[in-house]
Amino acid sequence: MVQHTELRACDQGDAPRRGQVVQSDAARFWSKVSRSEGCWEWRAYRDRDGYGRFGTGSRLLKTRFVHYAHVYAYRAEVGPVPAGKLVRHLCNRPWCVRPDHLAVGTQLENMADMVAAGRSTRGTRNAQAKLNDAKVLAIRERLRAGHGTARLAAMYGVSESAIHQIRKGVIWRHLLPADEAAND
Ligand SMILES: [Zn+2]
Repeated sequence: MVQHTELRACDQGDAPRRGQVVQSDAARFWSKVSRSEGCWEWRAYRDRDGYGRFGTGSRLLKTRFVHYAHVYAYRAEVGPVPAGKLVRHLCNRPWCVRPDHLAVGTQLENMADMVAAGRSTRGTRNAQAKLNDAKVLAIRERLRAGHGTARLAAMYGVSESAIHQIRKGVIWRHLLPADEAAND
């Protein structure tokens, strides 16, 4: 199952390129992982969203690169990540680096995973969010008052589909009145 398709031995004396997955880093990587029957936990640095980070290379040689730990695990054990794709967690645990819990997918699939797991899109935790709780409540208020989707989208600088999703409670569900949230 494990194919070291991307792992380079670097046995020709060449310095590894920036961000390259090389054999000499692999032992250090796996020493930071707690393996179990289920998920394999990244025990070193995690970002605020719970994703592990793993640094390789050297600042001096300008080859320093900070990888997402799960992406590093995928590249080392499974293979390269195709351009435009990202590495998803099938187990929905951002800190898990178990190769068979990871799969490549699209940004859209990743968002769907996170929404299904109740991660992300839950308000201000998403640093990229253009909206916050107060704005979403205002949008819901305006929708109830009959404001159009396109106009609200323009007003708040988001897509019309985001407004639709707010209306349906697909995103920002925690701001739905309790009775509406219970209905579907
Ligand atoms: Zn897992």
